[in-house]
Amino acid sequence: MTTDLPVMNLLPSEDDIALRKVAGDVARRFGHKYFAEKIAAGEPIDELWNALAEVGFLGVSLPEEYGGSGGGLWQLAIIAEELAAAGCPLQLLVYSQSICGNILAKYGTEEQKNRWLTGLVTGRIKFSFAITESDVGSNSQNLATQVRAVDGGYVLSGQKTFISGVEHADAILVVARTGTDERTGKGLLSLFVVEADAPGLSRTVVPTALVAPDKQWALYFDDIRLGPDSLIGELHKGFKPMFDGLNPERVLTAVFSTGIGRYALDKATAYVNQRQVWSVPIGAHQAVAHPLAEAKIRLEAARLMTEKAARLYDAGLPAGETANMAKFVASQAGVDCLDHAIQVHGGNGFTLEYGLTDLWWLARLVKVAPVSSEMVLNYVAEHSLGLPKSY
Ligand SMILES: Cc1cc2nc3c(=O)[nH]c(=O)nc-3n(C[C@H](O)[C@H](O)[C@H](O)COP(=O)(O)OP(=O)(O)OC[C@H]3O[C@@H](n4cnc5c(N)ncnc54)[C@H](O)[C@@H]3O)c2cc1C
Repeated sequence: MTTDLPVMNLLPSEDDIALRKVAGDVARRFGHKYFAEKIAAGEPIDELWNALAEVGFLGVSLPEEYGGSGGGLWQLAIIAEELAAAGCPLQLLVYSQSICGNILAKYGTEEQKNRWLTGLVTGRIKFSFAITESDVGSNSQNLATQVRAVDGGYVLSGQKTFISGVEHADAILVVARTGTDERTGKGLLSLFVVEADAPGLSRTVVPTALVAPDKQWALYFDDIRLGPDSLIGELHKGFKPMFDGLNPERVLTAVFSTGIGRYALDKATAYVNQRQVWSVPIGAHQAVAHPLAEAKIRLEAARLMTEKAARLYDAGLPAGETANMAKFVASQAGVDCLDHAIQVHGGNGFTLEYGLTDLWWLARLVKVAPVSSEMVLNYVAEHSLGLPKSY
C-alpha cells in the first residue's frame, strides 16, 4: 500500500550520521570546560558561534537563496543536540535560529529576508524573541504590549519580561497586540522586528539562577516608532506564524534536554565504571546502575519522539501535538539523567570540576520554558483526548 505520507526511517540516514559526526567534532573541540569558563568570565561564546558559522551550521535550516543550506528543523536539531551532548547547550540557537529564523524565512518579505536571514546565516546577526509579559504569563492571547498603526508605520508600547540574550541581539522579534477579536475578546496578535538600539527601548536584567551565556531581560517599549517594513506577515494574523516558530522551539528545547541528558549519562557511566569504594566499581551495584539504565530508556524514548516531531514539521504536516509531547518527555528525561548523574558522583557531583551541577538550572528550565509541562498537559488533554478546557 502506498500513501503520500513521508517515511520516517528508524535508522539514521548516511547524511544524518555525517552531520552528527561533524557537529559532535566541532562541539567537542570546545566542550563543557570552554563553555563554563566563558560563562564564569562573563564573556560571549563567540569562538564557538563563529566555528558553527564557518561550517555553515547557523544557516543549516534556512533557505539557500539567503546563504543557508536549505535543510530542515531536523538538521538544526542534530547540531543543537550534539552541542548540548558535548556540554555546550546553546539557548541562542533556540530563539535566534529556530524561532526567529523560521518565522522570517516563512513569513518575511523578500526585503526582510535579504536584510535579516543573510546575517543570521553568517552569525553576524542575532535575534531575541519576546512574547512573555509579567501580567499575562502562559495566557499569551491576552498580551497587553500594543502596537498601533500611525502615519508611516507603527508605534510600540508596553513591556516584556524574561527575554533571553538581548545583550547579544541585533534585533528582537516582538509579539504584540494589534487589536481585539470582538467575538472572543482575545487579542489579535502581530509580529514586529524591533532593532535592539531603537530609541525608546530600555532594559534591565532579571537576575536568575541560570548558569548560561545569555542573560534574561525585562524590556520596556516607550512609544517606539517602527517603519512599515517591521511587520512580519500580516497585521492581526500573527498567531499562525508565532506557532510556526514555537513548534521548532519545542523541538529545539527537547534536543537541548536530550543533549544534556546524553552529556550527563556519559559522565555518569565513565565515573561509575572507575569509582571503587568497596570491592567492585560502584556501577556494579544495581542501586547505582538501574536508575542510570532507566534514565537511558526514557532518554531514548524522548529522542525518538523528538525526531518524529522534527520530521513532521519538515514535511509540512501538523507537528504541534508531537512537538509538545516531545518537549514534555525530553525535559523530564534531561532532568532525570542529570539528577542521577549528580547522585552517582556523590560529593564530586557538586564540584565544578565534574561539570554537572552548573547545568542543573538550564536542564530544569525546560520544564517551565518555553512552555510549561502543565500547559503541555492542558494541550494534550484538550486536543489529543478531547477533554474540556478548564481555563
Ligand atoms: C530563564 C528563562 C528564559 C526565558 N526566555 C524567554 C524568552 O527568550 N522569550 C520569552 O518570550 N519568554 C521567555 N521566558 C518566559 C517563559 O516562556 C515563561 O516563564 C513560561 O512560558 C511560563 O510563563 P510564566 O512564567 O508567566 O508562568 P505562569 O503562566 O504564571 O504559570 C505559573 C505556573 O502555573 C502553571 N499554570 C498556569 N496556567 C495554568 C493552567 N491553565 N493550567 C495548569 N497550570 C497552569 C504553569 O504551568 C506554571 O507552572 C523565559 C523564562 C525563563 C525562566
